Amino acid sequence: NRPPRLHREFIMTRACSLQNSPLRIMQWNILAQALGEGKDGFVRCPMEALNWSERKYLILEEILTYRPDVVCLQEVDHYFDTFQPVLSSLGYQSSFCPKPCSPCLDVHNNNGPDGCALFFNRRRFQMLHTAHLRLSAMMLKTNQVAVVATLRCKLTGRVFCVAVTHLKARSGWEAFRSAQGANLLQQLHEITSQSNPEMHQDDQTEGIPLIVCGDFNAEPNEEVYRHFRSSSLGLDSVYKCLSDDRTTEPPYTSWKIRPSGECCSTLDYIWYSEKAFEVDAVLRIPSEEQIGPDRLPSFHYPSDHLSLVCDLSFSQQPHRLM
Ligand code: NDP
Ligand code: CA
Repeated sequence: NRPPRLHREFIMTRACSLQNSPLRIMQWNILAQALGEGKDGFVRCPMEALNWSERKYLILEEILTYRPDVVCLQEVDHYFDTFQPVLSSLGYQSSFCPKPCSPCLDVHNNNGPDGCALFFNRRRFQMLHTAHLRLSAMMLKTNQVAVVATLRCKLTGRVFCVAVTHLKARSGWEAFRSAQGANLLQQLHEITSQSNPEMHQDDQTEGIPLIVCGDFNAEPNEEVYRHFRSSSLGLDSVYKCLSDDRTTEPPYTSWKIRPSGECCSTLDYIWYSEKAFEVDAVLRIPSEEQIGPDRLPSFHYPSDHLSLVCDLSFSQQPHRLM
């Protein structure tokens, strides 16, 4: 007797040929089970809507509805008992990096630490390299991590890097997030500028094309957002494509009601190398009416963050063709 899932359409953002087989990327903070039940204080979400025995199917349904080639998740505290085995049986290879000192561990009956997890279609890609990064800020190691995978498309030979991260939450930590973002950019620069004999000539000179998915816990007016936009890695944010002027982020990617009040904010992003990729399609953000008066999570939708999904294709620069 659950209500139907949120219906969301893909918006085509450019004319592209049918032979195109873009990379479908998903970014999603799925809400750690231990935090949702034990720490978050979602005062308008019925506790029954958070039962893991049912909520896990809503999370899996959301992922499998779109069948992304790459799935980037944050707040994963059921990797070994749920997502790794289930998604492996459905054709995904994966890598999980727990937070060194996860807040889930403070919750009674927790299921272990939460962390970032990256899944990819193992029929389509071969993993060349994977790294688990611990982010630093002001020279100190922090509790935030990233997973970075270098993947090679088996059909075209194209190589790219994809990263998933979850920056420090809460207001008052803007400078800390900015430092974490700068450190992540630096570590990604080192990884994407490493030349590899398997790589395409242009990628050896311009760097490996990069996709960074994350819950940045930062609105677009924060410094960490500007760091990402202006870095030497040449990144742009996918979801700006949904706005009329193509320069504005969506009005929200997360919407919840805590004892302190309603919190409607844009915190999640998919960054991509703007020279290497074109954005073909973007999954629409549900309307306020679709989300409903009690906001998220709910019986309709299993997390307080919305999934972001897009189709990216390699730019068809003639000199880049294999
Ligand atoms: P963060 O501050 O980054 O937040 C952790 C989680 O809390 C996030 O998943 C975040 O969700 C959620 N959150 C954000 N705002 C609120 C809110 N107002 N109320 C409830 N939850 C919220 O966590 P850290 O990684 O810095 O870890 C903090 C905890 O970890 C501490 O409470 C401590 O228990 C433990 N810790 C212990 C250390 C030690 O040395 N013993 C060191 C570091 C941490 P979202 O991202 O969706 O907003
Ligand atoms: Ca959270």
